[in-house]
Amino acid sequence: MPRTNSRLSKSQKPEKEFQEIKEELEETRYIMIGTLPYEVGSMARKFVSDYAEENNVKRLTDFISNLINYASKSAFTSPGVSTSARAYCPLCNGGGNDYYVRGFSIPIGLERHLLGHNNSYQCGVMSILLKMAKDRRRDIENGVMHKGLDF
Ligand SMILES: [Zn+2]
Repeated sequence: MPRTNSRLSKSQKPEKEFQEIKEELEETRYIMIGTLPYEVGSMARKFVSDYAEENNVKRLTDFISNLINYASKSAFTSPGVSTSARAYCPLCNGGGNDYYVRGFSIPIGLERHLLGHNNSYQCGVMSILLKMAKDRRRDIENGVMHKGLDF
């Protein structure tokens, strides 16, 4: 059944629709975190939550380091192709664009993927987590309460 906002004036409808879309975006972002492996999802929730506090560079560095450590547990080598340890991204399960070599080198390749450094395409999940963290920080600074986002 389509939603009707007959009680709202024309000028109120766009504001209400914007608010509904914003809430759906937020819900979708948290559903995305919920699809991550439990340990990775816990790290992601902590990063988004803690980012709103001080020392955000250290929080980002720690998060990246924790993700690389997590990925290292399932690192592999590709004999005959690469001798370096490699792993898939723990956030998006991506493994790079190289047809012959699976996964990202550990730690540098994965770090570049997560941060989007050195002309690397940034991990889409990491990009969303950073947006969530920055939105949350901005909302807290503006006194906006998040509903259902207690970690
Ligand atoms: Zn990724």
